Amino acid sequence: MPLPALPPRAPGIEARGVARAEVGRGMPVVDVVVIGGGQAGLATGYHLRRTGLSHVILDAQEEPGGAWRHAWESLRLFSPALFSSLPGWPMEGGPDHYPTRDEAVDYLGRYEERYALPVLRPVRVDAVRREGAHLVVEADRGVWRAAAVVSATGSWEAPYVPEYPGRERYGGVQLHSARYRNPEPFVGKRVLVVGGGNSGAQILAELSRVADATWVTLREPRLLPDHIDGRHLFDQATAVYRARQEGRASPEPASLGDVVMVPPVREARDRRVLRTVRPFERFTAEGVVWEDGREERVDAVVWCTGFRPALDHLRPLGVLEADGRVRLEGNRSVRERRLWMVGYGNWTGFASATLIGVGRSARAVVAEIVDALAPA
Ligand code: FAD
Repeated sequence: MPLPALPPRAPGIEARGVARAEVGRGMPVVDVVVIGGGQAGLATGYHLRRTGLSHVILDAQEEPGGAWRHAWESLRLFSPALFSSLPGWPMEGGPDHYPTRDEAVDYLGRYEERYALPVLRPVRVDAVRREGAHLVVEADRGVWRAAAVVSATGSWEAPYVPEYPGRERYGGVQLHSARYRNPEPFVGKRVLVVGGGNSGAQILAELSRVADATWVTLREPRLLPDHIDGRHLFDQATAVYRARQEGRASPEPASLGDVVMVPPVREARDRRVLRTVRPFERFTAEGVVWEDGREERVDAVVWCTGFRPALDHLRPLGVLEADGRVRLEGNRSVRERRLWMVGYGNWTGFASATLIGVGRSARAVVAEIVDALAPA
C-alpha cells in the first residue's frame, strides 16, 4: 500500500524516506498525529502505514533513536537482540547477544528508513488543544490538525529524583542517570549510586572500576539468576498476565525492574563490589549523614531513580490526573476520546515500555483508531 502523502511542513525539518514538501501555509490536516519518534512512535507508525490513514510522527530529537541516544555509552540492553525487536523486523544478533546502546540507536534509525516512516524532526510539540471535531497539535516548527493523536513521548525527558533533606545545600555533583555518559568525570572520587534497578547496577559496576563507589538502595535489590534475562521476564510476565485475564491463579512474576545479570554486572559481582547499603538520612554541604549518625564527605551522587511520563504537552486538554498520568480505557484517554497513549509503562499496556512489548500496544491502538475514524 503506498504511503500517505506527507503534510506540508516548515523548511529545514528532516523527514526520512519521504519527499520534501514546502513550507506549510495554513494548517495541515491529517488523520493521525503521533507525538514522539522513539520506539513507541515507530511501532505505531509501522501499523499506521498499513491502514491508509494519513499520519505524521513528530519527534523532538535531531536524529533517530529516541531515549537510547542519551543513554550512557556502555549501556547493555537486558533483553537479547531477538527479544528487543519492533514489529516486522528482528534486531540483528539473535537470542544470545545483549545489544549495546549504539546498536539500539542504529536499529531504530534503520527501522524508520526501512518502512519509510513519515518522521519529522526536530519538532517539539508544546501543546495539544481541542478545536471542534479536531485536536490541534502545536509545535515549535508548525501546527497540525488531527482527527486522532497518539502520545508516545516516553519518560526519558522527565527524570525523577526523590526528596532527601538538605539536597539543595549539597555542594557536590548530582547527576541523574539520564545525563550520565561515562565514568571519566568520577575517576578517583567518592561516589554514591542511588537506586536499585538495572541502571543503578550497571552504573555502579562501571564506576566501581575507577572510583570509590557505594550502591545505595531502599531495600536489597533482587538480582536475577544468571540465566534469566529480559526475554524470560517477558515470557513469564505474559503467562501471568494471561492467567489473570482468564481468572486463573498465578504467582507474582519477576519485575522488569529486577536486576538482570548482563555481563558487566556479573563481572562486578565476581569482583564482590555489588553490595548495597540503605539510604543516608540527609545531605550536608559536603556529603551525607548515614542512619547511624556517621557523617561522610561525598564528591558526587548519581541518581538512578527512574523517570516519570513526559506529558506536559497534554496539559491543555485537562487529561492529567493527580499522579501525572492519563486515565485510560485500554490505551485510550477516558476524558479525551481522540487521544491514545503508547509506551510509558505497564499502565499503557503490558510491557509497552520495552522494545518487544510496545508492538502489541501499538497494534491495538491503531486498530482502535481505524474503528474510531471509520465513517459511521
Ligand atoms: P523514548 O525512547 O523516550 O522516545 C520518546 C521520543 O519522544 C523521544 O525521541 C523524545 O525526544 C520525543 N518527545 C518527547 N516529548 C516530545 C514532545 N513534546 N514533542 C515531540 N517529541 C517529544 N527496554 C527493552 O526492551 N530492553 C532493554 O534491555 C531495556 N533496557 C533499558 C535500560 C534502561 C537503563 C532504561 C532506562 C530503559 C530500558 N528499557 C529497555 C526500556 C525502554 O525500552 C525505553 O525506556 C524506551 O526508550 C522507551 O521508548 P519510548 O519510545 O516510549 O520513549
